[in-house]
Amino acid sequence: MQQPRLLFLAAELNPFAKVGGLADVVGALPKALKKQGVDVRIMIPKYGMIDPKQYPMQRVLRRVPVKFYNRTYTVDVYTTRLPGTSITVYLIDQKHFFDTGGVYYSKTAFVGTFKEVERFLFFGRAALESLPRLGWKPNILHCHDWHTAFIPVWLKTVYCCDNSFYASLRTLYTIHNLANQGISNLKVLKVAQVSRKALPSLERDARNNDIDLMVQGILTSDALNTVSPTYAREILTPEFGEHLDPVLRLRKRDLYGIVNGIDTEVFNPETDSHIPQRYSTQSFDRKKINKEALQRLCGFEMDSRVPIFGIVSRLTNQKGLDLVLALRRELAQFPLQLVILGTGDPKIERSLATLAKRLAHKMRVFLKFDAKLAQTIYAGSNFFLMPSRFEPCGLGQMIAMRYGTPPVVRATGGLADTVQHSKTGIVFHEYTPQALLAALRTALRLYQQPRYIAMAKAGMRKDLSWERSAQVYMRLYRKLLISHS
Ligand code: ADP
Repeated sequence: MQQPRLLFLAAELNPFAKVGGLADVVGALPKALKKQGVDVRIMIPKYGMIDPKQYPMQRVLRRVPVKFYNRTYTVDVYTTRLPGTSITVYLIDQKHFFDTGGVYYSKTAFVGTFKEVERFLFFGRAALESLPRLGWKPNILHCHDWHTAFIPVWLKTVYCCDNSFYASLRTLYTIHNLANQGISNLKVLKVAQVSRKALPSLERDARNNDIDLMVQGILTSDALNTVSPTYAREILTPEFGEHLDPVLRLRKRDLYGIVNGIDTEVFNPETDSHIPQRYSTQSFDRKKINKEALQRLCGFEMDSRVPIFGIVSRLTNQKGLDLVLALRRELAQFPLQLVILGTGDPKIERSLATLAKRLAHKMRVFLKFDAKLAQTIYAGSNFFLMPSRFEPCGLGQMIAMRYGTPPVVRATGGLADTVQHSKTGIVFHEYTPQALLAALRTALRLYQQPRYIAMAKAGMRKDLSWERSAQVYMRLYRKLLISHS
């Protein structure tokens, strides 16, 4: 049987080019795969902001011609190593497309402006043109998010028939965020040099007279996955499908859900230098020193019997803060303290800040991004609150468990898959203030019982590492190679 030889293709890679969680996954999963002996490499654009002094590079290909739109550009390909590993990273260099503007031209990366779509189409095309010259041939191209979604399209149209090098390549397409689809106009087809006729999937595209790169990736990849089994099921429904549920249903049989892991070396209460007091399951009692530090920082009453609920989150519609705000009265009455760290929607920020002012003795809101404070909250809180409307995977609940802070979560996406009700956390179902209220009551009761500590320790012992997810990915890669051999 063929062993997987993997090339990851993505817009982001930690630590070279990071905007969000995509970079973390593309940086962490190959490490876990490599540990299992897999030949895995990564390819990204050589953005202008990547400092070659920080990451020494070698040019391995020079002036590879890439036909794009009505011109032929040339690209150079550099290699470096993923820091701390022996994993090869290829960087595609083309000044016109990658030198300015960071990873995304648009601030949010949600829209996918024409310029941005062009940038990533070029990256995909240049990657395919460079491949036969690298002296190493992958058998699976693992494409991530809309930025690389056209690679399977080209493999099935332009590169398919007359060249055996490409014919044997399989594709896995991973959806990290269904909200970012890379929607553009049909001029893209000219840029991509694909005729309308060659693209049967165009008829099934999301809207009329536009082209949605995410849809193209979904319809043409050999298999696809998203970042948790529950979210993989949810996105087949109109409620979670972001208008793409009809298209996703067409690929239902090839759609998998694999949860992300967390970096258990970085997120480790035994070694974390950000937190006031380190601790483990054996020295769980020391966690209370972190709670005291957090209470002091927030200006709360130093009462060990009152549990602190923590939130570290983007403050957006996705995250369920409206449920928290709907419980103003109860928050005022209940014996609890609440600390929130986040930034985002100014309206949510304002509402939370106003409430915190009123309840200053027991509620504190920090409107900023602060990695150290985040760790202080994970370590110092007694519960971690994540009442999300939807959650493809979610990291917060996993970090909280690792720090012995049982999460209180809504049963959606990765939250449903990673938190076990009454074993490692508290799970509620309905997206209503009443359901959250019932969960808070359960948490308050639980906190007074010895069972609480057992739950906190069960979370700390849970295997949240990438190794487990890497094994599941391996099964999928093998399946892809078998089903197409
Ligand atoms: P999403 O990717 O939807 O934002 P996740 O839970 O998957 O949500 O990941 C969010 C990550 O970002 C977590 O590690 C969380 O601790 C961190 N984070 C979010 N907001 C902040 C903030 N204001 N300061 C520090 N870390 C934050």
